[in-house]
Amino acid sequence: MEAEIVVIGAGVVGAACAARLTMSGRKVVIVDRVEPGMSCSFGNAGGLSPTISFPLATPDMYKQIPGWLTKPDGPLVVDWKHLPRALPWLLRFLREGMPSRFERAAQGMRTMMRGVFEDYAPLIEFAHAQSLVHRVGQLYVFDTEQGFAKEQGAIETRRALGLEQQVLDGDAIRELEPHLDARFKHGVYLPTHGHCSNPQALVQRFVDASVAAGARFVRGDVARLEPADGGVVIHGLRSPLKARRVVLAGGVWSNELLRPLGASVPLESHRGYHVQLRYGQARPTRNVMWQEMKTLATPMDEGLRFAGTAEIAGTKAMPNARRFELLEKVARRMYPGLQSEGETRWMGHRPCTPDSLPLIGELPSHKSIVCAFGHGHVGLSGASFTSRAVDCIVRGDATDASWAAFSPGRYL
Ligand SMILES: Cc1cc2nc3c(=O)[nH]c(=O)nc-3n(C[C@H](O)[C@H](O)[C@H](O)COP(=O)(O)OP(=O)(O)OC[C@H]3O[C@@H](n4cnc5c(N)ncnc54)[C@H](O)[C@@H]3O)c2cc1C
Repeated sequence: MEAEIVVIGAGVVGAACAARLTMSGRKVVIVDRVEPGMSCSFGNAGGLSPTISFPLATPDMYKQIPGWLTKPDGPLVVDWKHLPRALPWLLRFLREGMPSRFERAAQGMRTMMRGVFEDYAPLIEFAHAQSLVHRVGQLYVFDTEQGFAKEQGAIETRRALGLEQQVLDGDAIRELEPHLDARFKHGVYLPTHGHCSNPQALVQRFVDASVAAGARFVRGDVARLEPADGGVVIHGLRSPLKARRVVLAGGVWSNELLRPLGASVPLESHRGYHVQLRYGQARPTRNVMWQEMKTLATPMDEGLRFAGTAEIAGTKAMPNARRFELLEKVARRMYPGLQSEGETRWMGHRPCTPDSLPLIGELPSHKSIVCAFGHGHVGLSGASFTSRAVDCIVRGDATDASWAAFSPGRYL
């Protein structure tokens, strides 16, 4: 079997790339071992955030390290059992907090995030997904003076960059979101942000629209990539499939296919959790981030979703039940009027690089393989930029100098 382009991974990144390539007239085969959007892209917080300007590793993170190792209920935790395996990644992560490296990553983050909606617009039209995307702003809320004080640096940065924001007091917060608890005294409103109210359905629509326009979706587990003359042979499906190009969008599992090619990159799962509660009296309008708790509450089609936590515990360990209980407690403190029945729980693996930037570009040793993975905490937002970049790379038109920050070569 032969194909022009095979996209491995039908998460939001692979599906967005497949849709964009199909729109450009390419013959695309999308391969995933599960149905579209059923991995990390299923349960995220749905946030679409064009003004996010910082990577996770920052110059002031060093004083928080003891807490990561000793506070099991903190927003970022490292499981002791997984520590030896995660150590090389963690050491590189710590290095990324150095001011010069931080600044480079921050610029990359801005490049990827600033055009989220503009980059998504043609894909959303192609997939008839307008009803899933809501540009209604986002609120960050704070219930302590210390928490709000910590946000001042970010407020200053947004101001310096000319990004739209409004600093709010408690009354103004409740004018925007009347069901939020009265504990929140400070807030920042980001009017250019928005959310997707069903991230899995968005992925499914990208795949459906691509298939309707001539692409194919194949359920299968890719076992191995074999570089061959003029392309790559994909092994593990019913029969070997030869492609001129492979777009590797396998999320946190991407390394499993790169390692045998001698191209292993630092990629670690930040396990994230959500609980979703059915709407009672409270039906908020927009995505709200309780900053001290690092918990996002998003009005999804089926209920109010509370998502958060970054837990470094590998891809094999079972979900930690205590995490769900903590999220549920936070949910009730944020929105006291919520209904308690109908709760759903989910855990997924954010594919994280040390500098928080994805790898987008040709693999230096095997140029037929185009990397599109490692979007960490912002893959729903970053998928739209990535699809545009991958389309340019496949066309041989990847001339934008600001894309160098995403080059796979930085880790190889
Ligand atoms: C709790 C939580 C909240 C989040 N909130 C937000 C948010 O508000 N905004 C935002 O922008 N981002 C958010 N994210 C991050 C975002 O969800 C991820 O960055 C994004 O989903 C990653 O997408 P992906 O397509 O790279 O990976 P995935 O969705 O994991 O897809 C990768 C796919 O590749 C397939 N695959 C891998 N290897 C193979 C193989 N060998 N053979 C066949 N198939 C293979 C897998 O089966 C999988 O389906 C959040 C994440 C979490 C966990």
